[in-house]
Amino acid sequence: MAETLLVTGGGRGIGAAVARLGAAAGYTVCVNYRSNAVAAEAVVAEIERDGGQAVALQADVAREEEVEKLFAAIDAELPPLTALVNNAGITGHVSKLEEASTQTLRDVIELNVLGVIWCCQAAVRRMARRHGGLGGAIVNISSGAATLGSPDTFVWYAASKAAVDTLTLGLALENARDDLRVNAVAPGLIRTDLHVDSGMPDRLETMPPQTPMGRPGEPEEIAEAVLWLLSEKASFTNGAVLRVTGGR
Ligand code: NAP
Repeated sequence: MAETLLVTGGGRGIGAAVARLGAAAGYTVCVNYRSNAVAAEAVVAEIERDGGQAVALQADVAREEEVEKLFAAIDAELPPLTALVNNAGITGHVSKLEEASTQTLRDVIELNVLGVIWCCQAAVRRMARRHGGLGGAIVNISSGAATLGSPDTFVWYAASKAAVDTLTLGLALENARDDLRVNAVAPGLIRTDLHVDSGMPDRLETMPPQTPMGRPGEPEEIAEAVLWLLSEKASFTNGAVLRVTGGR
């Protein structure tokens, strides 16, 4: 399959699991990262060791001009883009809303909402049939937070993911006749570095007893859902937000 899958934030956590599984499915994978080149290159090396194809490309997808450069590099260097996973996302430091700084709010909204919108724009311009593309699929990584609200932790993050859900629906409808499907996966509590970065390093120990299955999910359990949505097996699934939360 000479087709490219772009995974934003593909160097660590859920994105890295999606990149590995995407390569195993036959995509040439573009592993985008913001600052951790070592982690992204390690994912690429692992994919290549297993016989797959991947490249690591640095870009801060919260910046419009860097999104443009990222997609231009894919145009120049890789097979046609048919799959995009908008995975890069941050929460900002945990607090009540009234204590959150304007900088935190801006950082989260600029990456989780504007960054996803810019990547969707760039992808539609390349993938939709009306633009001469091959069609394909976009999967946005939302969060169970979008419907839980995340009180006392990061209400603004939950709101940003609700925006992702609505974007997913609207973009799916806008491209439904152009061979381009758009869906989202809403993970629950997943074992990644995100919890340390948000200021809750013990969350993976303290939260699970309160969750239905009594454990956090693994990044690979999210990647399986993402790869299904990208695949032809999900050919009539469009505009959906698939909750993968262990029942939460
Ligand atoms: P993670 O382990 O913290 O990894 C985040 C990844 O995003 C890293 O590869 C990071 O790049 C990249 N990134 C951050 N800012 C970026 C930017 N501006 N431009 C490009 N890449 C950027 O996070 P994760 O837990 O896997 O989360 C992935 C997605 O799942 C996020 O959208 C998150 O909201 C969502 N989610 C996670 C959970 C959970 O429990 N973990 C639950 C629900 C939803 P560097 O490596 O270069 O820093």
